[in-house]
Amino acid sequence: RQDRYEHLRDKPSVTADAVPVPIRLLGNIELAQEAAHCLDRGAEGVGLYRTEFLYLNKSAHPTEEEHYAAYASVLGTLGSNRPVVIRTLDLGADKFSSVSGAVANEKNPFLGLRSVRLCLRQRELFVTQLRAILRAGLLGDVRVMFPMISTADELRQCKTLLNDVKEELEYAGIPFKRDLRVGTMIEVPSAALLADVLAREVDFFSIGTNDLIQYTLAADRNNEHVANLYSPADPAVLRLIRMVVQAAQKEKEHGKRAFDVNVCGEMSGEPLYIPLLVGLGLRQFSATPRKIPEIKRVIRELRIPEAEEVARRALAMESASQVTSYLRDHLRKML
Ligand code: PEP
Ligand code: MG
Repeated sequence: RQDRYEHLRDKPSVTADAVPVPIRLLGNIELAQEAAHCLDRGAEGVGLYRTEFLYLNKSAHPTEEEHYAAYASVLGTLGSNRPVVIRTLDLGADKFSSVSGAVANEKNPFLGLRSVRLCLRQRELFVTQLRAILRAGLLGDVRVMFPMISTADELRQCKTLLNDVKEELEYAGIPFKRDLRVGTMIEVPSAALLADVLAREVDFFSIGTNDLIQYTLAADRNNEHVANLYSPADPAVLRLIRMVVQAAQKEKEHGKRAFDVNVCGEMSGEPLYIPLLVGLGLRQFSATPRKIPEIKRVIRELRIPEAEEVARRALAMESASQVTSYLRDHLRKML
């Protein structure tokens, strides 16, 4: 069934408007070997390379060379022109390594020392990965992305460290990508609310809806007892996404520069939410590779004014259930 839209693989991902609008579709991967799945399913690149898997079930942290080999393998598969967004380590909470060094007994691990917070505390861990990413940058269109950013200071600290690592490589005469593009995930409500400030610091955003939903609704993404609250269609989530898109558009206009906004949570792999997300102004999605043909099918049937109407109406609704049934109804009529 998933392969029903396989024939769309080499067809462009464009809307059905009189002047079709291109929508960029990228793949999410966790292992270097999965890069090939992205190409099989027609992705234009890797929008989210989750690097935690280099650390899981290992007796020691990966070395710089192990990082580099994994990134080189992905780039070897994708070639030098397709974008590959490498997300720095997002350990902690639901992703634990036996050697992570994270506080294992935190009472609230999702609100604790996870992800970039851990990396900024354990600089060696962070530096090893950043060195490998900067070096791998010479092999293709590599970009780096920081997860779980919740304040502008945190983002600035990451950028400062990245610059320190560049100087270190420079000093040691090791070749690296000087103008590596830097992005931040927007997956904490504070980051969405502060998107205009964060936008000035980076080249792109990627909205991580899995965490954004969890933190906005204070509902654990893995807890079935509160699964009723956890919905991508919640109007509070939609308002935050809209804020992020608007902040990015403003930055693009005022800063007169390219500024991409991607969506890389599970939400962007669900055909149901595609018209809504396109209507909110999003033009780039990164999803599990096997979902890409279905998403492309929806995009190729969609017209921008129709998507904008969907977003307008959804934003005026008061509950996730209202939005969900409206979206279901719309998609049924559309396809
Ligand atoms: C997200 O939070 O939406 C996301 C893409 O990151 P992860 O699922 O790895 O936490
Ligand atoms: Mg996340």
